Amino acid sequence: MVWHGGRGWYGRVLAAAVGVTAVAVTTSVWSAQAGPVAGRPARAEEVVRPSWPNAQGPARVPVSVTITHASDRGARGVNITIDDGPDPVWTPRVLEVLREYGVKATFCMVGTQAQAHPDLVRAVVAAGHRLCDHTVSHDTTMDTKSESYQSRQILDAERMITKASGGVRPQYYRAPGGAFTPYSRKLAASRGMRPLGWNVDSKDFERPGTDVLVATVKQEIANGPTVLFHDAGGDRSESVEALRELLPWLRRQGYSFGFPVR
Ligand SMILES: [Zn+2]
Repeated sequence: MVWHGGRGWYGRVLAAAVGVTAVAVTTSVWSAQAGPVAGRPARAEEVVRPSWPNAQGPARVPVSVTITHASDRGARGVNITIDDGPDPVWTPRVLEVLREYGVKATFCMVGTQAQAHPDLVRAVVAAGHRLCDHTVSHDTTMDTKSESYQSRQILDAERMITKASGGVRPQYYRAPGGAFTPYSRKLAASRGMRPLGWNVDSKDFERPGTDVLVATVKQEIANGPTVLFHDAGGDRSESVEALRELLPWLRRQGYSFGFPVR
């Protein structure tokens, strides 16, 4: 299954990687100071108070509508993010590599995949990883669709993932191909899900060979802490092998592994 075909992909990757656009929102919004982003100064953000207790605890913790890239481990933090699963073949292998190196990651799940494989969603949660809503059907053109369509894509996936996990809610929302809109970011934040971007695309989806994948991440990790891999959508053996090389390499470079700042 090809999730990422089409010409629009790279433009959206770039937009998601660099695009942090403040938007005007009309309710429940106030200014807050974000934590420092690696290599960038803190900036004022707009936040939305979730409509119910979110995954951080019983308090209605405000969630920013801006796209997060920073790591909660600070300037030498790295956030490993794993997209498009869960997949019965590849998710267990990714989980095994992460376990081997003691790394916690963020899994951006497609709603229908989560619904089909609740055992894998629970295994991800049980291992201490975090969940991210990656919509129902991975439509990379959803930024051109109606608000009601975007709402269904996000909220139905949120329900599917939360049900599959046994009640653990996704803490992030990542638009397929980076196709965020001001509306979708605000909607996600209102559900306690911080919009999540990325800084480094491993390009594992193109299967360029493990050596190329490893080299790409090594070269681009200076760009920012959030790295994109996939655990579904085809043969992901290169992704698994690249993680096996990169996780210990990153540690040797002095990086530590964390979660995207919420
Ligand atoms: Zn994806």
